Amino acid sequence: MKMKTRLLTGILVLIACQPPTAEPDFDMSALPGSDFEGPAFEFELIVEGIYQARGTGNVAVGSNAAIIINEEDVLLVDSHISPVAAAALIEELGSITDKPVKYVVNTHFHFDHAHGNQIYPDDIEVIGHEFTREMLTNEGSTGRTYAYFLERMAGQAGFLDGQEGLSPTPPNTTLSERMTLFRGDREIRLLFFGRGHTGGDIVVHLPEERLLITGDLLLPGIPFMGDGFPSDWVGTLEELKTLDFDIVVPGHGAPFSDLAKIDHLQSYLTDLWNRTSDAYSQGLTAEQAAEQVDLTDHSSDYPSLRGPGAPLPAIQRMYELLANQESNQ
Ligand SMILES: [Zn+2]
Repeated sequence: MKMKTRLLTGILVLIACQPPTAEPDFDMSALPGSDFEGPAFEFELIVEGIYQARGTGNVAVGSNAAIIINEEDVLLVDSHISPVAAAALIEELGSITDKPVKYVVNTHFHFDHAHGNQIYPDDIEVIGHEFTREMLTNEGSTGRTYAYFLERMAGQAGFLDGQEGLSPTPPNTTLSERMTLFRGDREIRLLFFGRGHTGGDIVVHLPEERLLITGDLLLPGIPFMGDGFPSDWVGTLEELKTLDFDIVVPGHGAPFSDLAKIDHLQSYLTDLWNRTSDAYSQGLTAEQAAEQVDLTDHSSDYPSLRGPGAPLPAIQRMYELLANQESNQ
């Protein structure tokens, strides 16, 4: 009930101060999974007009979005895990702004960042890399990575319900290398530096605010690697260092300013790739490698590394890349 009262206030504010806008036109209560209580999100102010939206746990939202409030409109980075999570964000945005959402950026194609896309009407620009469009057009977001997480996340509130009626929707605007939006005083750069966490990760750079929104290309912890390109990823991260920024807003976890985390991930990826390549050439199966490959020398950077072993999807992915490499020789 508390949420409904607050939302009503948000709507009244909208009615009172806003001319008709391009707000998405949906009935949230009609969306599967909308029968949750309390707010879906908490908003952390990072610098003026820029927030990170994080799930409260009342309903699965999957990833953390960034919200950029411009002079006349709002740009969201990532659309969350389901139509209902995306819709909840739009409704709850009323507590921090009355400006309409006009842009949504997909940092990459993964379900937890892009399965909310379908709630946006055509006049909202949903922007992503060409690769992201290709994957969301061709069932890439409901493939093996999705299957892997469906099982693991099934216990999260409203997650499975939220996937009902899903219709993966690709970005309606794409880029291959870069794009810049000028919204009032704000300059928003969308940049692709090469393959990494997927084949089409873009980062959002705000040069004036010295802030970088990284999706899953750079996280405070170790990102999922099941669709990654670990050896390219190291070089892509090197390119990030050419940008001026002090704050990273990641797609999972809280914002951070310890930029040594870029080196930590590069070093982890390099060792993981080399050690997995060794296991592959020694004839170990992916399952054996996932138990034996030892990265514990990175445990001061990643305390979650408590013993030998690496996630099986990461090892399977690297075995796939190594097998391709072999057959191309
Ligand atoms: Zn991802």
